[in-house]
Amino acid sequence: MVNINDYTPIVGQGTIDELFLLAQRLQGKIIQNINSTAVGGGVAEILTRIIPLLRQLGVDARWDVIKGNERFFGITKKIHNALHGVNIEISPQDLEYFLETNRDNAQEMNLYGDILFIHDSQPIALVEKKKEIGKKWLWRCHVDFTRPKQDIMNFLRSYIEKYDAVVFSAPPFAIDINLPQVLISPSIDPLSDKNKELPPEIIAPVLERFGIDKSRPIITQISRFDYLKDPVGVIKAYKMCKKHIDCQLILAGGGATDDPEGLIVLEEVKSAAADDPDVHILLLPPASDIEINALQRASTVILQKSLKEGFGLTVAEALWKAKPVIAGAVGGIPIQITHKYSGILTHSIEGTAYYLKQLINEPEYAKRLGENGREHIKNNFLITRHLRDYLLLFLSLYYEGDIIYL
Ligand code: UDP
Repeated sequence: MVNINDYTPIVGQGTIDELFLLAQRLQGKIIQNINSTAVGGGVAEILTRIIPLLRQLGVDARWDVIKGNERFFGITKKIHNALHGVNIEISPQDLEYFLETNRDNAQEMNLYGDILFIHDSQPIALVEKKKEIGKKWLWRCHVDFTRPKQDIMNFLRSYIEKYDAVVFSAPPFAIDINLPQVLISPSIDPLSDKNKELPPEIIAPVLERFGIDKSRPIITQISRFDYLKDPVGVIKAYKMCKKHIDCQLILAGGGATDDPEGLIVLEEVKSAAADDPDVHILLLPPASDIEINALQRASTVILQKSLKEGFGLTVAEALWKAKPVIAGAVGGIPIQITHKYSGILTHSIEGTAYYLKQLINEPEYAKRLGENGREHIKNNFLITRHLRDYLLLFLSLYYEGDIIYL
């Protein structure tokens, strides 16, 4: 178990002292986080790391997960896709079922928090309970909200409006709403198994286990198998690059319990890969953090060719390892990558292939991008910054004029 003081060598004593000072002011308040899956995807990843650290700081932070059946998660995935601008119809019956499931959860769950911190759209309607139980309610949106489908946005808006404040991951996601909107980007934990330093003796056996040849360039994308991560586009870009360079591709991903589309996408990925022995499609079980860390560290170039992206933790994870990253210029990715300074932003498969070749052929340039990227992540996207932002956000809910009412 990581100790909060273990971060001192990375971020300095002042940062840690400040966290304790802020946390003290929240004594006696329970922060109840609620989302829709305990494993898989960025939201669960962050909560897993941040809750124990908040508790070490003395904040009573807890985490509960809503329940839903296959139909519910089928509908929430459609809502998720519609928020990302996919033109998809969601019937009134489906929306009613979505609300019913939220109401069932609101009845069955113990909503004991002083602050109810609701993550993403799946549990958004729990806020209907506010009129009955009061409390402070925060809605944290983790998805790319740049061009949501308007009917779904309007449906969600009637719930968003009931919250005390909303939190977004990047500036383009702000919405026109009469509520405090707070920008808090996600973060990575530099001391987690996924991000800590790994010696070569740990990395080499992982490559061996997956049949990857470390003497030839390795291109990697780590992502849930989701259309919006464009894994088929990744394979096409790799194939263009492969015509010129003898390289390998790793597409590693696992499922998330709230994402029913994964298996369909995986099948499409397998058929796009055909039987190229240099394409490694790895279906990783949950808690494969060391493996992911090792694969990222062993890579020559890391891709995150998303078509939509709330933030893209995988980008921060790769940059923290000083890896050259080529990523889609979408959603929260441009706040992590400045094009040709701390990585490469792309808009197409052809562009991705072009930069793949360049970064493999010019290792010095690739190294410089990675180093600049690491510095940027260190200054902006580590978990200690995230903790500070959350503590300030929680405190702000009790702030009126120049007095904090606690
Ligand atoms: N991840 C993982 N196993 C996988 C695929 C992804 O642990 O098989 C992790 C990945 O390392 C990252 C998170 O899940 O920490 C994905 O977060 P991101 O913001 O990149 O995308 P999301 O899945 O939330 O859309």
